[in-house]
This record gives sequence, C-alpha cells and structure tokens, in this order.
Amino acid sequence: MKHQKIIVALDGNSSCGKSTYAKRIATELGYSYIDTGAMYRAVTLACLESGLFETTGSPPVQLVEDLLDGIEISLQFNPERQRTEIYLNGRMVEDQIRGMEVSGHVSYIAAISAVRRKMVEYQRRLGEGKAVVMDGRDIGTVVFPDAELKIFLTASLEVRAMRRYKEFIEKGMPADMEEVKQNLEKRDHIDSSREDSPLKQAEDAIVLDNSHITVDQQMEWFQDVYNRITARFDGGH
Ligand code: C5P
Repeated sequence: MKHQKIIVALDGNSSCGKSTYAKRIATELGYSYIDTGAMYRAVTLACLESGLFETTGSPPVQLVEDLLDGIEISLQFNPERQRTEIYLNGRMVEDQIRGMEVSGHVSYIAAISAVRRKMVEYQRRLGEGKAVVMDGRDIGTVVFPDAELKIFLTASLEVRAMRRYKEFIEKGMPADMEEVKQNLEKRDHIDSSREDSPLKQAEDAIVLDNSHITVDQQMEWFQDVYNRITARFDGGH
C-alpha cells in the first residue's frame, strides 16, 4: 500500500546521530534528506571568510546582516556520490563546513534572527511537496510545526562526543576529545538558550534516546512509529 507523503522532522542536540538517522529514513521512504545544520554552517563559513569574527563570541549583527544579502545557499544532490551537497554562492563547501573552526562559530550565527529567517524560508520551500526528512534544531517547533511525524533524538554527552571524535578520526581530520566535548556542550547551551527558535522538544514530538542502540534498532523503532502515524493519516482520522 502506498502511503500519503509526509514531513519527518528530526530535531535534537549536537552530534546525536541525526544526520545518519535522517539519511537512513530518507532512503527507506524514498524521500529527500535535508540537512539544515549545513545551511547555518555555510553562512558561518562565509562570515569566517569575510573576517567577521575578529574577537571571540558573536560578530556584530549588522555586519552579518549586510553579508547575508549577498549569500546564496543551496542544496544539490550529487548522483555520483549519492549525497546531497551544500553550495555557498555556487561553490561546493561540504568539506570546509565540517571542521572545528566552523563548529566553534556556527551557534553564534544561528542565533541571529535575520539568518534564521532566510534559512527557514528556504527550508519551507524545500518541504512544500512533502516527502522530506529534515533534521535540525527547530524543525518540529518552527519550520514545520504541522509536520506529521516529529522525532526528538537525544544521547548522553559522553556518547555524542565519542561519536563525533571517531568521525573526525575516520575522515583523517585532527581532533581532540576534550575540545570536541566542550564544543558540543557550548553549542547545546547557545542553541537551547537563544531567544529566536531555541532548541527544544516540540510538545508532540516522540523522544528517542539512542545512547545505547544501533542504527538498525533505531530503524526498527522508526518503522513502528511510521506505520502507526501513516495509518492515522491514510485512514483520515
Ligand atoms: O546539525 P549541525 O550540528 O550541523 O548544526 C550546526 C549548528 O547549526 C547547530 O549547533 C545550531 O547552532 C545550528 N542549527 C540551528 N537550527 C537548525 C540546524 C542547525 O540553529 N535547524
């Protein structure tokens, strides 16, 4: 039976495996995967390249807003690599946005309302036709408050830090466990305490703590939840 197309909103803390999970779900359902964190990271890269971070902390909001007008962010699927890649003004920046430098600055940029407005507008356009799995911090609360299926993913800080650290090592990127852990803590703090669209669980989200379960187990859990939700929508009640 073919189910009605829905929006799957996946929110949660930094490095709790959202993108791995979202990609698996998207493949399983034949949906598009949309990584909203990559968008905020790409804007941050533009700010870094323009020298807006002179001191630690947030750069002057006005400078970011001025820069924003000339920034074009887009996601494009690369069929050869079978992955969606992020573009900043026509330049593919997948690799540049994943390092510690962007990670250390992104939460300041993501807290700026003008940046969020521009990204959310693009995210809503991408989800117009449904059939998307979108991961981020505010997808179920702000971007798509009416999403049919909302998941809030969590895992302990230790587990998250270890996963992120291993990711860096596997990619051959330099990494320091303590620095990785501190970055996650700091980002979670800024993301959940900012005024505009803070990271929080939507009231109607289903929580999954994946600290001690495998991705296959998470998929079993998802199938169950998805069947229940789609039965409700397909059945029209
Ligand atoms: O998901 P990822 O860790 O790549 O996100 C990087 C940062 O982008 C987050 O720490 C957060 O500051 C910001 N972000 C956000 N809202 C989203 C997605 C990401 O504020 N929907």
